[in-house]
Amino acid sequence: MKRVTHWIAGAASPGAGRTADLFDPATGQVSGTVDLASAAEVDAAVAAAVAAFPAWRDASLTKRSQVLFRFRELLVAHQDELAALISAEHGKVHSDALGEIARGLEVVEFACGIPNLLKGGFSENVSTRVDAYSIRQPLGVVAGITPFNFPAMVPLWMFPVAIACGNAFILKPSEKDPSASLLLARLWREAGLPDGAFGVVQGDKEAVDRLLVHPDVRAVSFVGSTPIARYVYETGTAAGKRVQALGGAKNHMLVLPDADLDLVADSAVSAGFGSAGERCMAISVVLAVEPIGDELVDKIATRVRDLRVGTGDSDMGPLVTREHRDKVASYLDLGVQEGAKLVVDGRESAPEGDGFWLGPTVFDHVPPGSRLHREEIFGPVLSVVRVSSYEEGLRLINEGEYGNGTAIFTNDGGAARRFQNEVEVGMVGINVPIPVPMAYYSFGGWKSSLFGDTHVHGAEGVHFYTRGKVVTSRWLDPSHGGVHLGFPTNA
Ligand code: NAD
Repeated sequence: MKRVTHWIAGAASPGAGRTADLFDPATGQVSGTVDLASAAEVDAAVAAAVAAFPAWRDASLTKRSQVLFRFRELLVAHQDELAALISAEHGKVHSDALGEIARGLEVVEFACGIPNLLKGGFSENVSTRVDAYSIRQPLGVVAGITPFNFPAMVPLWMFPVAIACGNAFILKPSEKDPSASLLLARLWREAGLPDGAFGVVQGDKEAVDRLLVHPDVRAVSFVGSTPIARYVYETGTAAGKRVQALGGAKNHMLVLPDADLDLVADSAVSAGFGSAGERCMAISVVLAVEPIGDELVDKIATRVRDLRVGTGDSDMGPLVTREHRDKVASYLDLGVQEGAKLVVDGRESAPEGDGFWLGPTVFDHVPPGSRLHREEIFGPVLSVVRVSSYEEGLRLINEGEYGNGTAIFTNDGGAARRFQNEVEVGMVGINVPIPVPMAYYSFGGWKSSLFGDTHVHGAEGVHFYTRGKVVTSRWLDPSHGGVHLGFPTNA
């Protein structure tokens, strides 16, 4: 049985208190335990990070980018091992785990360019023989609190940028699939990052609560469900910290009648059921503008019935926990009660055994405004809502609580352009079902999908993990001497 520990001051650090069981979602069996940090254990990790920060902050940009480049090479070399750890605890199939690592790797590659990203501005002679320039400096110790669904990619959205900027970083991964974090920590050590500059505290609410009020933690990046994102934002900012807190999602795909329906069906099925729907950018609602509803639902259902649910090279794995599977499955009864038509029932294609299985489900004629339509289910359930026009579809998207991702499928460039302008969502796809921004753009939603104003990675990530300073300098010139009590103006 494995035991997943903390990582403090560059070494594995067993906890002394509570633990939680880890499960293999494919079999439902306990596979090990994870330590759950106490406040004192969080304090130890923060103290190690505080000690590491000054030397790392003062490391030259060249040195920092060299460590990042080495980390990148190690990540590539260990990607299969990392993917296997992810699949064993999360349940996603191997190819999907490799996909999340590839997207995380892109953020490391972005962060390798830190010397360029931290360039400031310089203005000569803002006043006579006076120069001004701007610089950005690291914050100190910063923390990342991450969800179960991307145990490598979401932490990789955060720490390459934070560390490249000169900060020390503490990761609090999901307690459901914590092993990836320890492999990443070992790779940092091998890459030459000073001990303490990257720490991991395993744990649950107790560890999070301590990080949120710890006086030496300057900023918190959070990704998870909306209620916890709101709590983290409110608690962290009340304690004087910078917080970016990304929350849940309910992503709609609006399909206009002129769209290529085979492309739409392929895209809806891929985006709806990849990673068993446990993606914050999953498409969970298809808004079909009539008269295409019947034809589109047929095409979607045909493809869904062909999906292979299982382990190995299957299309879709199990859900992460028994409780989550049961919660997702409860929406199948609810949907029927609410009057939706159950076209494909995922209970029928679930593999036998004690694993946390649920096959892909498709509902048609989902009533707009029903719980099935509005609530984040976070599983393999795709709802088709029939609408009569572009305007009705747009209104349903904009009335939703969330604003993470959305997509429009059409061959009408004017309609697509109007959609990108009018839709109240942070990440928009045009004939692209999962519009995850590249590492050099920034990732984040609107409304209840993001608390704070800064998205993750890209230029906004660099901004979040640094603070600006403007220097105005004049080198001695006797002719400018003398006492002046007036407010400084420029001449
Ligand atoms: P979660 O909110 O349950 O957990 C996220 C983190 O918060 C974990 O580290 C967990 O240990 C911690 N946590 C849980 N309960 C807490 C509490 N009461 N107090 C303090 N900390 C607590 O989310 P999850 O189930 O791990 O992940 C799925 C959710 O994450 C979905 O809602 C999904 O949409 C969202 N998500 C959003 C994005 C995004 O970019 N917006 C990306 C991935 C996942």
